[in-house]
Amino acid sequence: MDPVNEHIRALQAYQPGLQPAQGEKVIKLNTNENPYPPPPAVLEAIRAESMDSLRLYPDPKSRSLRAAAAAVYGVEPEQVLAGNGSDEILGILLRTFAARGDRIGFYEPSYSYYKTLGAIHNLELVPTPVADDPGQLRLPDSKDLKVFFLTNPNSPLGFSVRPEFVVRLAGHVRGIVVVDEAYADFARWNCLPLIRSIPNVLVTRSLSKSYSLAGLRVGLAVGAHRWIEQMDKVRDHYNLSRIAQAAACVALREQDYLQENISRILKTRERLRREIGELGLRCLQSDANFLFVRFPSSEAASGAYRFLLERGVLVRYFPQEPLHDGLRISIGTERETDRLIAELKGTLES
Ligand code: PMP
Repeated sequence: MDPVNEHIRALQAYQPGLQPAQGEKVIKLNTNENPYPPPPAVLEAIRAESMDSLRLYPDPKSRSLRAAAAAVYGVEPEQVLAGNGSDEILGILLRTFAARGDRIGFYEPSYSYYKTLGAIHNLELVPTPVADDPGQLRLPDSKDLKVFFLTNPNSPLGFSVRPEFVVRLAGHVRGIVVVDEAYADFARWNCLPLIRSIPNVLVTRSLSKSYSLAGLRVGLAVGAHRWIEQMDKVRDHYNLSRIAQAAACVALREQDYLQENISRILKTRERLRREIGELGLRCLQSDANFLFVRFPSSEAASGAYRFLLERGVLVRYFPQEPLHDGLRISIGTERETDRLIAELKGTLES
């Protein structure tokens, strides 16, 4: 007898972007990390925390971190839940709001981890197709969804929808609409204000991208206290390490550093968009820290992926339709962008 649960045996595990071995010299533009370091005060906080108290368990309620996040987002600490990356929050959301056999919705393509998580929790997956143009985004056919995940800005395509669309979506879907705002700090708008007026909207945030802390693993959920208190029951009691809590608190207070970091990335994004256009390739509109670039064919896109990889430039290729003729390229430093453009020219000439 096979002791493994049948649905786990059938599960396709989530495929994260390639992580090079420690010390390998590559230009890493494949997982939307920030090319710049976190502020020095964050490293100080990590050092201080490591010296003093690692023999002790962390605060199970992440109180200081939730208070720091609440101050940034203009909400009460009781409206914030902290997670070990926003990935953990997504799992907590499903455990709180959906049970075996329930239906969950999302746009396709968007963040593919929703599907993995839905399968792990034995849920029925209800995708709604999305075109490149956000103006064409339609509401899901079915209203009967316990959770709907909206990746906004979308990954891997990069577009974002306005809060007015989310109001319509939340009026349409019977369950909770989770606006996954992992990239919202790079966008022109966000849906945090909606949590006051729309009862079934919850927002998730990540410190992995705009705050340059992907390695720390800190994500947040922001929403009505009555949802957050239920979610709080199903997380691991010590889900954030002492180091993560201490460092994230400081990072959230360094808002000037954050804004400077974001404006540098947006400037490079617009430069990259222009220069990729000059190469004759088409970039989709992006409100995030990456661009999705369409090639004339899937062979051209996968060929460019391999060409770049062989030269130590990592970007993301998704072999399945409708992404198979494109590459998702994270925004790096100006120097990394120089190299990327030079190598892209090389691939088009080869
Ligand atoms: N949502 C989206 C749309 C993402 O792209 C990612 C990063 N892969 C996450 C959530 C998870 O981010 P993290 O767990 O690092 O906060």
